[in-house]
Amino acid sequence: MVVKLLTLNKPHEVELKLNSNFPQNVNVIGYDKNNQKYFDRNVYLNQPEIKLRFGCPITPNNLYVKINANNKENLKVTPKLNNLGSTFIFDSSTREFVEFIQEFCTNYHKYKAQKTYYSRSKKFKIVHLNTIGETTPARIHKTKHFIEVGKDYFKDISIPMRVFILCHEYAHIYMNTVPENEFEADINGAKLYLKLNYPIIELLYSFTKIFGESPETIKRSIAITNYVKQYD
Ligand SMILES: [Zn+2]
Repeated sequence: MVVKLLTLNKPHEVELKLNSNFPQNVNVIGYDKNNQKYFDRNVYLNQPEIKLRFGCPITPNNLYVKINANNKENLKVTPKLNNLGSTFIFDSSTREFVEFIQEFCTNYHKYKAQKTYYSRSKKFKIVHLNTIGETTPARIHKTKHFIEVGKDYFKDISIPMRVFILCHEYAHIYMNTVPENEFEADINGAKLYLKLNYPIIELLYSFTKIFGESPETIKRSIAITNYVKQYD
């Protein structure tokens, strides 16, 4: 089932009330006409009524919400659009970075691989590659500070996941006290990401769906989960 919501390019919190007669797994995807995903969430309905909320600081004119469930006949979906608080970042450099990456992540289908893209004043630079050739979606150069993005990872993930990954890279250089510290980049990246009103769950998906299951990643995943609890 697909629900069309008139989001009019404005920030919104999409609320979905799901009523089901019995427990079942449901997958909910919010996407635009270019197939860019605003959220992609799996939920187990273990009670007759569950409300899901998706923070969408950036929206298309029309947002399509697709609900996949094994037992659609027994599922009732009621959508609602709520206000989402707007944010203002005072520091102009951070603002330039945020504008640059939000545009890049939202209209990702327009950005060709093997090309370089710059922010407004050219302070920030994304080198967009088919692949970085590593088990990572992105990385930032230690001294030259450009960010490399691998299309192999980026093309299928949701907009918030892309945003978080780039906030993490930004944090390494511009927010961390120790640039190479991954734990610190996760926390600082999360601070920026959450300030922009993106959903916590999509941030956590970046760890579970992308970064793999190395002992280091599991430790980072636990640390970030503990950190974001305070925002719940
Ligand atoms: Zn990192």
